[in-house]
Amino acid sequence: MPMIWPEFADKPLIDVQDVPTCPVCGADRFAAYASGHDYELLTCRNEWRFVKCESCSHVWLNPRPAISTLPVIYPPTYYAYNYANQVNVIARKGKEFLDRGKMQSILKRLPTPPKSFVDVGCGEGRFLRVMEKQGLDRSNIYGLELDENVVAPLAKEGYKAYCRRVEDCTEIGGNSIDLATMFHVIEHVDDPAAVTRKVASWLSPGGVFAIETPNLDSLDARKFKPHFWGGYHIPRHWNLFTPATLKKLLEDAGLNVIATTFQTGHSFWMYSYQHTLNFGSHPRKRLARFFNPLKGLPMLVAFTAYDKLRAKLGARTSAMLMLAQRPGR
Ligand SMILES: [Zn+2]
Repeated sequence: MPMIWPEFADKPLIDVQDVPTCPVCGADRFAAYASGHDYELLTCRNEWRFVKCESCSHVWLNPRPAISTLPVIYPPTYYAYNYANQVNVIARKGKEFLDRGKMQSILKRLPTPPKSFVDVGCGEGRFLRVMEKQGLDRSNIYGLELDENVVAPLAKEGYKAYCRRVEDCTEIGGNSIDLATMFHVIEHVDDPAAVTRKVASWLSPGGVFAIETPNLDSLDARKFKPHFWGGYHIPRHWNLFTPATLKKLLEDAGLNVIATTFQTGHSFWMYSYQHTLNFGSHPRKRLARFFNPLKGLPMLVAFTAYDKLRAKLGARTSAMLMLAQRPGR
């Protein structure tokens, strides 16, 4: 059990909500899997627990933060919303390069070039711009994001950008989207099965859903179990998948998995070491800062190269990307 560190002493104890049934299969029998604190942002002093479904092996946070606490666990400084400001410029260029590569690897696996596109969790629109360069018109490029401050400028530019959760989105018609992407979003949502079904309903016959999420069945996830794996992202990751449970989620929504690839999980490696050095049984706090993915550039380059090589050699890294197709084309 990790002890409570002085860093957490003045943090609030936030409201929680039980999740008594498996978000993937609905079973109500589960066992403790992992636990920890918000080592990354120190937003609260709760100790959190992941549980594992005894039926389908899915892992989820139980209890999880109450919806009313979202402004606490996603503070205004949350890096996903401040990407351009916080991340080192060289790291940002490197990320752009990786993003383009990721989209190319998706596009080359599609049966036909997509004519319509949605990115769920589009942020400042990086992938919307990539798809425009592929020849799509802005009127066929959709983006959903929960931060109005990034949605408004995109909408002004002519993209179909909306400040909506997938479940509440009525602007996208059924059978209308050739390619839907959702990178590192599904692990944050409260009902991943409902979100997946909704995205599947948007797809045209033969349309593809590309979904990326942390992979629990990876070397770093095993090495840093049960407290410090960066992919836990406690308490903001509510569902953690393996290739098997993600495949089940997609198939239960009526889709067929056509490809599984593995991307670099460099930031999970770095947070895993950072959390261990800060809060493990032998803390080395001064060393820990070199493992901050937002600042420690040499380590970022090293871990990215390491994971690229491992992925090339066929290893299952900690970021998996699955492509699932709607049948009936
Ligand atoms: Zn289950």
